Amino acid sequence: MKLVLFGPPGSGKGTYASRLESRLGIAAISTGDIFREAVKQGSTLGKEIKEYLDSGRLVPDEKVIPVVSTRITGPRGGKGFVLDGFPRTVDQASALENMVHIDAIVNLSVPEEIIIRRLSTRRTCRDCGAIFNLKTMKPRYEGVCDRCQGPLVQREDDTAPVIKERLRVFEKQSRPLIDYYRDRIPLLSIACDDLPPEDVVQQIITKLEKLNLLGFTSTSC
Ligand code: ADP
Ligand code: ZN
Repeated sequence: MKLVLFGPPGSGKGTYASRLESRLGIAAISTGDIFREAVKQGSTLGKEIKEYLDSGRLVPDEKVIPVVSTRITGPRGGKGFVLDGFPRTVDQASALENMVHIDAIVNLSVPEEIIIRRLSTRRTCRDCGAIFNLKTMKPRYEGVCDRCQGPLVQREDDTAPVIKERLRVFEKQSRPLIDYYRDRIPLLSIACDDLPPEDVVQQIITKLEKLNLLGFTSTSC
């Protein structure tokens, strides 16, 4: 199963990608996580991209595409994967088309006021990147990651001005991808609104089953 999760910042891509990873046994590949890790490590790539992440603009295609290409052709990508945060431009989409065949795109839509509320109450584990929310997806113990006990922090780009810029960039550079993909690859539209994550993930799996894309790989949670 080779899937792309598409949607604006705060539409839940990271949350659903990690749940689909365990339900379908495929690798979740998040370009945002890869880039944040590179910045944290202070690698050459990290130094080159930090300003883009801090300001909410897109990292240039020529830096993003090779990173994804290595992951999806590597051993973890072999059984299938779910891409979270890639492609984000038409050039990234056409590069992806030359790398592999994608089975379906999940198009997540969420009203803007919900996005802003969610992102300002989102907390992320500093150590493993797991996602929580102070209102809707609380950790078992306040400020502590359920998965690795790491500290929960607010992402530096989850502040009002950067959220606004990320939404603007999404509308301008990423939204046109939906037209690019129409008639090329099955597009599964999901209205997430305020649904609990397990319901959204179940909707995605049901739609994949209806398209006969799953075989017997799905397990219940
Ligand atoms: P969100 O979808 O919530 O904005 P991500 O974690 O997916 O957050 O991305 C964080 C930042 O990483 C983006 O604002 C951008 O700077 C960079 N980034 C991630 N994926 C890509 C991509 N495919 N192309 C260009 N930049 C990217
Ligand atoms: Zn953690």
